[in-house]
Order: sequence, then structure tokens, then C-alpha cells
Amino acid sequence: MYDEKNIFAKILRNELPFDEVYQDEFSLFFNDINPQAKIHVLGIPKVKRVDFSDFIKNESNDNIISFFKSVDNVLDLLKVKKDGYRIITNSGKNGGQEVPHFHIHILAGDKVNTVI
Ligand code: 5GP
Repeated sequence: MYDEKNIFAKILRNELPFDEVYQDEFSLFFNDINPQAKIHVLGIPKVKRVDFSDFIKNESNDNIISFFKSVDNVLDLLKVKKDGYRIITNSGKNGGQEVPHFHIHILAGDKVNTVI
């Protein structure tokens, strides 16, 4: 069940400040408050989905494509394609997910050694 009180839900409702990198109709990207790499951007869809599987199973193909196309746009904006990057998504207790709103981490800017 989706928890309306999670931090990213509050960010989407503009109840908390965030450092925006990019947004469009369906997705929002902002800097992680506790960066684990030189570049550490979080990407979230603007729908109430708990994790990757909830997102993939329950969103339309159009929305899924829209989100991942936006991820790719952000990689262009960040200019990280040449030197590379890592994309991570955590799910549940064993995956170490802290915020129960589906999100991806983009890590880049230097050799990425971090496990999030
Ligand atoms: P998870 O462990 O759920 O995959 O990742 C959650 C991420 O959200 C963590 O990297 C954490 O630093 C970040 N985070 C937690 N609270 C906030 C916040 O209020 N603002 C921002 N920008 N990031 C946050």
C-alpha cells in the first residue's frame, strides 16, 4: 500500500523543498540530499507507485516509456554519457529502500564505487 506521508510524496505535493534538476508532465528529478557520488540525482514518476515492480505492473506502457525516456534526457542534461554512470533502484527491506515511492538513483561524475 502506498504511504501518502513518504518524503517523495511530500516533495511532489510541494510540502518540502527540493533541488530540481529537471521535470516534465510525468517525472521529477532532483539532487539527493545525502549524495553518495559527485553527481547523485533521484528520479521519480508523479504517480503513487511503491517500487519498480508496482510501477511496471500497474502503469500504462506510455507512462513507463515516458519515465525512462525522461531518465535518458536527464543523462544528457548531466552530460554523463561519455564517461558513464550507474542507475540503481532499491526495493523493500532486503533492497535497502528507505523511501517507499518508486525512484531511481543516477550516480556519476567520478568512478562510482558506492552501493546505495
Ligand atoms: P532509497 O534508499 O529509498 O533507495 O533512497 C532514498 C534516497 O532519498 C536516499 O539516497 C536519501 O539520501 C534520499 N533522501 C531522503 N530524504 C530526502 C529529502 O528530503 N530530500 C532529498 N532530496 N533526498 C532525500
